[in-house]
Amino acid sequence: MSTGKLYIISAPSGAGKTSLVRRLIAEVENLVVSISHTTRPIRPGETDGKDYFFVSQAEFQVLLDSHELLEHASVFDNYYGTAKATVEQNLTDGLDVILEIDWQGAQQIKAIRPDSLSIFILPPSTGILEQRLQDRGQDDDAVIARRMRDAVTEMSHYKEFDYILVNDVFERALTELKSIIIANRLTKDRQQRNLKKMIEALLSSS
Ligand code: 5GP
Repeated sequence: MSTGKLYIISAPSGAGKTSLVRRLIAEVENLVVSISHTTRPIRPGETDGKDYFFVSQAEFQVLLDSHELLEHASVFDNYYGTAKATVEQNLTDGLDVILEIDWQGAQQIKAIRPDSLSIFILPPSTGILEQRLQDRGQDDDAVIARRMRDAVTEMSHYKEFDYILVNDVFERALTELKSIIIANRLTKDRQQRNLKKMIEALLSSS
């Protein structure tokens, strides 16, 4: 039975991570994104159970106390966490799983799953990052200023990641993301597991 690969994708807010991951999931088969739990309020256009599982502080605490989270962190004064059971089930089922999490969560996952692969998405410039945050129209100037400061903190961790990608031209960044996932599916370790019967047949045909 083949086991899937765990990917961590991090980026500062506004780098385009969510849009890239959405397209990636739509275009690459056997790849899923983990839906996190968060205590932050739901935003207009978001759906509970699709974008996040929106929970209260008390509900989040229960998840923590019962060790149901693979990792968790406080980001922008709210708690975020990844449910362990769903991720493990998907990996066991042979699916590749993406965690869209911040650098704190990435560090925790790398510590417990050193075989995971991490990808950091950078914006091409500070000016473009700020422009993208303004264009989203979700935040006022004070929140944007705070997000810009937090973006620098997030980006300062880029060296801890296995792959670095620049989201300048969206389609190119998407191709690069896909390349990472597809190349990993072709590694000897995975192919030996996936193609076991075929390889055995090829080698015993003399
Ligand atoms: P937002 O609230 O804007 O959707 O996300 C804010 C930040 O929280 C982003 O950097 C996002 O990657 C991070 N985040 C979302 N879910 C999780 C999670 O389950 N764990 C961690 N550590 N960070 C998360």
